[in-house]
Amino acid sequence: MVVQKFGGTSVADPAAIRRVIEIARTARARDGRGPVVVVSAMSGVTDVLLEIAEAAGAARLDDALPRVEELRERHLAVVRDLVGGPRPDALLAHINEQFDELAAIVRALGVLREVSPRTLDAVASRGELLSSRIMAAALAGAGLPGEWVDARTVIVTSDEHTRAVPLTAETHAALVTHLVPILDAGGVPVVGGFVGATVDGLTSTLGRGGSDYSAALIGASIGVSEIQIWTDVDGLLTADPRIIKNPRLVPHLSFAEAAELAYFGAKVLHPSTIRPAVERNIPVRILNSQKPEGAGTMITAAGATGRVGLTGLASKRDVTVVDITSSRMLMAYGFLRRVFEVFERYRTAVDMVTTSEVSVSVTVDDVRNLADVVEALSEFADVTVVPHLALLCAVGDVLQEEAAMAARVVGVLEEVPIKMISQAASRRNITVVLRREDLQHAMERLHEEFFE
Ligand code: ADP
Ligand code: ASP
Ligand code: MG
Repeated sequence: MVVQKFGGTSVADPAAIRRVIEIARTARARDGRGPVVVVSAMSGVTDVLLEIAEAAGAARLDDALPRVEELRERHLAVVRDLVGGPRPDALLAHINEQFDELAAIVRALGVLREVSPRTLDAVASRGELLSSRIMAAALAGAGLPGEWVDARTVIVTSDEHTRAVPLTAETHAALVTHLVPILDAGGVPVVGGFVGATVDGLTSTLGRGGSDYSAALIGASIGVSEIQIWTDVDGLLTADPRIIKNPRLVPHLSFAEAAELAYFGAKVLHPSTIRPAVERNIPVRILNSQKPEGAGTMITAAGATGRVGLTGLASKRDVTVVDITSSRMLMAYGFLRRVFEVFERYRTAVDMVTTSEVSVSVTVDDVRNLADVVEALSEFADVTVVPHLALLCAVGDVLQEEAAMAARVVGVLEEVPIKMISQAASRRNITVVLRREDLQHAMERLHEEFFE
């Protein structure tokens, strides 16, 4: 049995949802069980919800409230189109209730003029809570026993709202109580991705793109044979198709390679997705919901055999470099510990690190707490922050075996000014930091050299 996660574009409208139904039907016919279906919000809905919250917090109700109504209409229209037969009154009424409540929250935020991470989660989670209900009803309407599972009852998380961390043991126990019995009774559980709840029952979310992670958590916890990520491209590609015109499909890669590519910007996979899969050694497959017959990309522990070149490229368009120079002494022992303690204290993840005798440079993605980080570091070091740089990462298990490959990567970039460069101990990637205006050219040169 498999878990199938469908992204925003895969559930964007009635035609897309009908394709999902057939994909689930095929899996069920093949496996005789399941599948477990995890869905994102309909495409664009999470962005709009977050914009609504922001507008409400700035007391721009004339902007926020009409957008609530647009979203309401979009969801109602999909239900009217999809759920045939006797009118789906209960579902329409539920959707109306949800949007009435959202409008009430928006008005309250307008008065308070304040949006906390906790409130953002209460608003942003609605996209998945609604799309999953609609999907369950659509499956049922098409003769499959779809049953809605409230993600807030099965994904138990920490209370770090907007980037909550799932609690594995609690989540497993909740899945065994609320989801597994549906499968055992022959049903098709449908869960909204991205969403969970804290131990105290407050709605939380796993961070942008987190539905992939939800699917992997559920799949690993209940022990499926494959975690499928259905999206709008043929699989994992050799580069971001928004940057490189004709990237190639990567048919097969290792967990470690996929984790690096996802972490360094391949948006097709949320960076945390691979971890649960690794723990239970469950293959992850990326597939195109508009071309279900395609083979997609297979991600396994061993990866591909016999690949000669690199596996893929990834990039981030906006990273910040923090240069930290020891002010009192050269790199006395304990300096690095003090540096990283600061990043830990302010919950700021460091992506890449380079060191020299007197200084440490790190890149960070999430700058929400950077002012605090800089202030704390400044107590014992000189700190310079360089914002708006780009990061480019070339990934391939081949880098471990072929020493010359790293030199070739750097050689291709010879005329591009490089600010930082690193090859991690895993020697599976080479990462460089460069100016944003050089990213496009650098990606094109590398792609041409290794994949065309
Ligand atoms: P979903 O809504 O299905 O989760 P996402 O938008 O999150 O879809 O991810 C799919 C998108 O990721 C693709 O449309 C593509 O533009 C982008 N992307 C970036 N890098 C890659 C890559 N290496 N391979 C495939 N897609 C990529
Ligand atoms: N809907 C959420 C987002 O847009 C989660 C997801 O799609 O994976 O970030
Ligand atoms: Mg996604």
